[in-house]
Amino acid sequence: MGRISVEFEENIPRYACTSCFNCTSIMGESHCNVKNRGCCSYFPKFTLLEIHKMSKTLMGLQTLDIILKNPGTVVYQYYLHVKGYFDKEGHERYLREEYDPRENLPKDTTVFFRACPFVKAGQGCTLPAKYRNHVCNFFICSEVIKEANANSKFQRYMTECTSYSKWVDWENSCLERILAENNVNLVSNFNKSVEILQSIPLSEYEFPALEPIEYDDTCGKGA
Ligand code: SF4
Ligand code: SF4
Repeated sequence: MGRISVEFEENIPRYACTSCFNCTSIMGESHCNVKNRGCCSYFPKFTLLEIHKMSKTLMGLQTLDIILKNPGTVVYQYYLHVKGYFDKEGHERYLREEYDPRENLPKDTTVFFRACPFVKAGQGCTLPAKYRNHVCNFFICSEVIKEANANSKFQRYMTECTSYSKWVDWENSCLERILAENNVNLVSNFNKSVEILQSIPLSEYEFPALEPIEYDDTCGKGA
């Protein structure tokens, strides 16, 4: 049986899924150098909300420093975008030479050739969960969703995730407005922006302690 639960790191929620320990999803397939990296082919964004959280503690500021030192990190006015490893040639060769007949191929096959710079093969994310963005903390691939959907209680996980995402968007728009009122953004003056964020109290979201759910994780695996 597979199991999905919600875990908290200092009140920051994330979904944990036992299928991820031995990922067999097509989204976890890696043709690049970084093997066994689950679905961390994603190039994450760190929004003002995450930077706000990071600005509050030494560990957070150290995490922010790690993100900024990544050579592929691009600073935008109100977020950071982290670009990681991408085997462009490998992907072009795959498109040119390899016919892949599978019906469940992702629309964007570059995912097979990418890796987030913060993932460690076989170990997962090296950043503290409380500073990751909500996409990283809540992502569940469509294969697991399909299996988990057989349990009616899973729907609550989806609706709570949607509500949380709306709150994240709202918080980000408030923080953006505060920076704009101070005539500053991450591009024009990064340090000043972090200083302003540091002075703003953190808002709390009361994410419910959802009951763990179980699902049959043997579908489509020939077990
Ligand atoms: S969410 Fe799906 S693709 Fe991602 S690690 Fe878990 S099982 Fe693999
Ligand atoms: S930040 Fe962490 S969880 Fe998000 S894609 Fe990168 S390694 Fe994965």
